[in-house]
Amino acid sequence: MKTKIILLGPPGCGKGTQAELLGDRLGFVRLSTGDMLREAVRNDTPLGREAKKYMDAGALVPNDVIIGMMKDKIRELKGTFLLDGFPRTVEQADALAKEIDIDAAINLDVDDEELVGRLTNRRSCPDCNSVYHLINKAPKKEGICDKCGCKLYQRDDDTEKTVRNRLKVYRDNTYPLIEYYRERGKLATIEGIGDIEYIYTKVTKALK
Ligand code: AMP
Repeated sequence: MKTKIILLGPPGCGKGTQAELLGDRLGFVRLSTGDMLREAVRNDTPLGREAKKYMDAGALVPNDVIIGMMKDKIRELKGTFLLDGFPRTVEQADALAKEIDIDAAINLDVDDEELVGRLTNRRSCPDCNSVYHLINKAPKKEGICDKCGCKLYQRDDDTEKTVRNRLKVYRDNTYPLIEYYRERGKLATIEGIGDIEYIYTKVTKALK
């Protein structure tokens, strides 16, 4: 099985949901730059204060900040792991390639209108980072995380205006990574529409 993987795809494509399943069921250690940055914002660290202004606008945090944050983490990675939300630019992908030869980049393909609907209905757990959707994956108890019982919240960047900007930023900066990994023979594209379990089955097939 492929054990060193990247999850690629636009915001709202289901990377976080699939990452959670791969972690829970197959023991993938999950490294999410978005989760790391949100924690830094919550703890009001210098990194968090620097990152917040970009995140609130739906823009990318500068490459040097992200690469600086990830370098040691990547060096420490062993065994079965997945990167969720990193790399997001060719510069980040080059920095990653200097440290690790990944096995596969799984690209979840979803169209823009579906993404806007998903993101604006998304609710997240600030504690365990589980993600829900008000319509497709509602928590058992309204507003409460099934896993840890914390109160769910709507991310500041999940409003429609910011979401549209995040999609543009994705097309301009991250989309080129699809070609980048295709050229290197690492790319598996999966249609990210439909039942979560069905998509998970396709993801695990691509890891064989
Ligand atoms: P995510 O949770 O992956 O949707 O990330 C939320 C926000 O964090 C993004 O909109 C960016 O502002 C920032 N971010 C996360 N990962 C990266 C990255 N690899 N490069 C630059 N900015 C990032």
